[in-house]
Amino acid sequence: MAQPYAKAFYSSKEWINCQAAFMQSKNYTCERCGQLATIAHHKIFITPANISDPMITLNWDNLMALCIEDHNKIHSNGGPCVEGLRFDEDGNLIQSPQGL
Ligand SMILES: [Zn+2]
Ligand SMILES: [Zn+2]
Repeated sequence: MAQPYAKAFYSSKEWINCQAAFMQSKNYTCERCGQLATIAHHKIFITPANISDPMITLNWDNLMALCIEDHNKIHSNGGPCVEGLRFDEDGNLIQSPQGL
């Protein structure tokens, strides 16, 4: 399950419009491997501290078009996300178990 604060953000009209326009500008092409991109990834991971900052959450400079595989790689290779958050297989922001 996504964290409630993230769920509200990801279902907001602002985010849906922002990521749709961004993905379109990238022709839905993964910036890593060139395959079909389905996820607009935040280079600076979203946390409860920055989720209300549009310069982080809605800034194209902070977005990256990625396929699911590369998105998973970024979040798994990056270790635990800031604030103990990470993404699950469905791309939902969840709380990392302690010590992971
Ligand atoms: Zn890719
Ligand atoms: Zn991401």
